[in-house]
Amino acid sequence: MIKPDAVRAGNIGNILRMINAAGFRIAAMKLTQMSLERAGQFYAVHQERPFYGELCAFMSSGPIVAAILEKENAVDDFRKLIGATNPANAEEGTIRKLYATSVGENAVHGSDSDENAAIEGAFHFGGVEMY
Ligand code: ATP
Ligand code: MG
Repeated sequence: MIKPDAVRAGNIGNILRMINAAGFRIAAMKLTQMSLERAGQFYAVHQERPFYGELCAFMSSGPIVAAILEKENAVDDFRKLIGATNPANAEEGTIRKLYATSVGENAVHGSDSDENAAIEGAFHFGGVEMY
């Protein structure tokens, strides 16, 4: 996902250009907004964490770009491309270093495993929307 902060800042194009340059194939994509309830479902794994309420409020605060990306080694390579959760710790040239503003408003989300990527893809897209 391209998160609401990056959409608001006008960085959809910049981020998609980096995703293309890194060799990912876009298998599905849309601009959409999650309700507070759906954001809560998406990040349910974090529901015991102190930042959960803030995270769900932020993720439902405006439109996001949801996408399914394909590549060999996609999960690890995408996490390298996006950089550390906190942009202060992200390497130069990563998406978060360039476009994130804080640990909470960090521009992009990447799945943390192939299994979760499949679950998260199905969360946002129906079968006829994946190519
Ligand atoms: P994401 O799952 O969004 O790709 P991540 O895997 O790098 O990010 P997680 O540990 O899964 O990081 O945390 C999920 C999201 O919760 C982070 O991207 C960030 O938006 C938010 N978050 C994480 N830690 C904090 C924190 N200490 N304070 C505020 N928000 C946080
Ligand atoms: Mg995560």
